[in-house]
Amino acid sequence: MALKPCRECGKQVSDQAEICPNCGIKEPTISAETALPSQPGEDSDVILTMPGILITRTLAKFPSQTFPINGIGSVTVATANGVLWFIGAAVFLVSGIAVIGSSVDGNPIGIFPILGAFALFIVALKQKDGLLIKTSSGDVRAMVGDKKKLEIVKQAIERAATMRG
Ligand SMILES: [Zn+2]
Repeated sequence: MALKPCRECGKQVSDQAEICPNCGIKEPTISAETALPSQPGEDSDVILTMPGILITRTLAKFPSQTFPINGIGSVTVATANGVLWFIGAAVFLVSGIAVIGSSVDGNPIGIFPILGAFALFIVALKQKDGLLIKTSSGDVRAMVGDKKKLEIVKQAIERAATMRG
C-alpha cells in the first residue's frame, strides 16, 4: 500500500482509498496520467496503423519483418518494372511461333519459347511496387502494394526517424 497525493486537496492518501479522508473526493489518487498510461512503443507512440502494419516512434512492423526505426537508413518506393517482363514474354512468344511456322511439318521445338513466354508473362503480372528499406545488412523489400499506400508508410517511417532525431 503506497501513499499518493490526493488529486483534489494534495494531502497524502492511500492509493487504495476510494474516498479521500480529507476532502471526500472519490478515487483521490487516480489522475489523468495513471488513468491513461503511456508505455513506450505502445499506443502513445503509434504513428500509423494499417492491416498488418504498425509504425511507431521506435518500430516499423510489417507482416514479414519488424525493423527498429534507428536501424533504418532510408526508405524508397521502388517502382515495378512489369513492362520489361511483358516485352520479354512477347519476344519469346513471337520467336516460338516463328520457329513452328518456318518449319514444314511444324517443328515442335517452338513449344519451348512459348512456354518461356508464359513463364515471363506470369512474372510480369506478379511485379508490384514495393517499399525498399535500407538497413545495415542490405536492402529489404518490406512490403508490396499500390504506390499511394507505400508513400503513406514511407512518410510515417520518415516521421518516426525525425522524431527520434
Ligand atoms: Zn483530498
